[in-house]
Amino acid sequence: MTTSDATTLYIDGSWVASSDGGTRTVTCPADGAEVGVVSEATPEDVERAIAAARRAYDDGVWADRPASERGDLLLRVADGITARKDDFARAEALDTGKRLVEAEGDMDDIASAFRYFGKIADQNPGRLVDAGDSSVISRVVYEPVGVCGMITPWNFPLLQASWKVAPALAAGNSFILKPAELTPHTSMLLMEVLEAAGLPAGVANLVLGAGGTVGAPLSTHPGIDLVSFTGGAVTGRKISESAAATVKKVALELGGKNPNVVFADADFEAAVDNALTAAFLDSGLVCSAGTRLIVQDTIAERFVDELVSRAEGIVMGGPFDEKAETGPLISQEHRDKVTDYVTRGVEAGARLRVGGHWGGEEHANGFFYAPTVLDQCTRDNPAVIEEGFGPVITVETFSTEAEAIQTANHTEYGLAGAVWTSDAGVANRVSRKLRHGTIWINDYHPYLPQAEWGGFKQSGIGRELGPSGMGEYVEPKHIYQNTEPAPADWFPRKEG
Ligand code: NAD
Repeated sequence: MTTSDATTLYIDGSWVASSDGGTRTVTCPADGAEVGVVSEATPEDVERAIAAARRAYDDGVWADRPASERGDLLLRVADGITARKDDFARAEALDTGKRLVEAEGDMDDIASAFRYFGKIADQNPGRLVDAGDSSVISRVVYEPVGVCGMITPWNFPLLQASWKVAPALAAGNSFILKPAELTPHTSMLLMEVLEAAGLPAGVANLVLGAGGTVGAPLSTHPGIDLVSFTGGAVTGRKISESAAATVKKVALELGGKNPNVVFADADFEAAVDNALTAAFLDSGLVCSAGTRLIVQDTIAERFVDELVSRAEGIVMGGPFDEKAETGPLISQEHRDKVTDYVTRGVEAGARLRVGGHWGGEEHANGFFYAPTVLDQCTRDNPAVIEEGFGPVITVETFSTEAEAIQTANHTEYGLAGAVWTSDAGVANRVSRKLRHGTIWINDYHPYLPQAEWGGFKQSGIGRELGPSGMGEYVEPKHIYQNTEPAPADWFPRKEG
């Protein structure tokens, strides 16, 4: 498979070009250099991919395999990704502009996700149910949902895809993956690894292209049983609405406006340091980024001064720049949005302490945006309310525990948050009161494939990772078997 001839759609086990020959040139957001030319799928290509996935599912080429064999294949996929980690990481770094070292870390996490779901593939054979009658065998079995449409974003392109692909395959589904149009290359590599691991043709299909034409059919088509989406809230709502017409199962992993709550008794150095990584890791392009710093008023001034001085020193650069500590945003359009978001925040009364610019001359060819801190923010400031999706921290303060909880929950989102304190009681109480899907205590960002990931409120529907992440891809079925059939005599036979 090469990208130069643009046969980059993977449909029914073959690499094919778009049916109208359409292509898209992918460029690196760090310097604008061309990364590759890929096929741009047409609605007909998507139709063929759905038909292939449907056929593969209905023929049972994957779903009927023993669960342990499906698990073994996922373990081989994990090994395949690890063996080609350099190719994968380089492709991800070029598509996203993120630092190579961060992309390498992502590849380790992706292999871990495949390993986790590989190991639990045969762990849920079903359960017996006591029917209260010894002649009845009543059991619940878990079957694949069927054909899954998967739509993923550009910030962690293959990581987000792997959280869907691995559990879907473990459970016996077939799928059509549509990655973000700006970052297709690692999804293509994944198809190669799936094929090399022995996945039957038609089970995995890859379509590339724009959301409106290539992604939308995955939410409307009657041949799709489940649509799983990771991305922005606006798109998530659209997908949910269009999926309703055919009553598809819908899983949504949307944005966040994640509170990072720091009490005065927290380890100061650790809290400041982690406040930086919480918000600025991967240029802030993390759905769970700790962009809302909520700090106790007694330490706020010293804390923010230190944060600002550290933020000022963060070095921006491209994927292979060894001095770089963070990378660019994904596109000019995206940078314009972040610029507008910061401008509106300042207009609404926030004070710009650092950042708020695109970097120096050396960054002119890329879509960089300097790490930014806005303090003196009020709860109704748009920068506090909206997900800016860039390297921007807003600072709010609190005086009491109750106020900290109320402030941290004052958002339509509910993806993740953190609490920093040396008081175990405060940590316990606050972590239980925060209405967010992941809470870190005295840490920020770690996640585990064994533990559920997902959002309360408008951050999403359903969970990825952990046993529930697999649960999204199965349908429970109750089978009730009477081993001693007899007339029920509900409607007695009438004489004559
Ligand atoms: P986006 O919503 O613009 O796009 C995501 C995907 O949806 C892309 O593949 C896009 O082509 C596709 N799409 C766009 N319109 C569509 C339509 N009408 N029908 C079907 N598909 C369509 O999101 P983005 O800008 O790529 O990603 C950033 C967002 O993703 C942020 O809001 C971030 O918080 C969120 N995100 C959430 C998580 C999580 O785990 N909760 C993880 C990563 C990113």
